[in-house]
Amino acid sequence: MNEPLREVRATVTVPAQSGRALAVSEGETVRVVDLQGRQVGDLWAIDARDHDRWLSTSHTRDRQETLVPRVGLEFLDQTGRPILEFVADESPGRHDMLFPPCDTWLYESEGLTDHPNCRDNFLTAAASIGLSLPVVPDPVNVFQNSTPEADGTLVVHSAVSGPGDSASFRALRDLLVVLTACSVDYWPTNGSVCTPLELRVG
Ligand SMILES: [Zn+2]
Repeated sequence: MNEPLREVRATVTVPAQSGRALAVSEGETVRVVDLQGRQVGDLWAIDARDHDRWLSTSHTRDRQETLVPRVGLEFLDQTGRPILEFVADESPGRHDMLFPPCDTWLYESEGLTDHPNCRDNFLTAAASIGLSLPVVPDPVNVFQNSTPEADGTLVVHSAVSGPGDSASFRALRDLLVVLTACSVDYWPTNGSVCTPLELRVG
C-alpha cells in the first residue's frame, strides 16, 4: 500500500547505531525509510502536550487484540486513546511490537561492553529535545522480523526489508517522535551489519 506524503517538511537521517528525535504535528505523516535494507528501527511516540502519555505497545496489543503491527492499526496510549496510525507499508510487512529496545545489559550478556544500544540512544535523542520520561517505553520495532511462531516461539530473524522500503504512520495528536537505528550486530537482526535509517515527515 502506498499513501503519498503531501510534502516532506523534514528529512532526518538516523546514522547507524544512533537515534534522533523531532516534533510532529497532528495529521502529519512520519515515514521510516530503510535506506540500505535489513535495518530495524525502534519507534517511539510521546504526546507533545502531556509527556506522561506515550504509545504503549502492551495497551495496543490488549485493546486492539493483535500481536503484530499492520496497516490500519491504531496504536494506543496507556489510557487506550489512539496516538499513532499505521497508514502505509512499502515493505514485506514484518514489524514487531513485542520486544523492548536493546540495552546495555543485553550486550553485556553477550560479552559486549560499552556497546551502542537503542535504550541509551532513545534517552540521548529524547534529551536533545528536552524530553525526559520516568521510564523507557517499549517501542514499535519497524522492520523487525520476529513474528511469533504458532507454538509461541519468538525468534528474531534477519530483517527482510529492502533498500528504500518504508513504513508510514500518521500522528493522531501533536507528538514527539524518536527513532533509533537498532544497534544489534552480534545477531542477524539487522542483516549482521548496522546501517542508517531516514525519517521523512510531512
Ligand atoms: Zn536495538
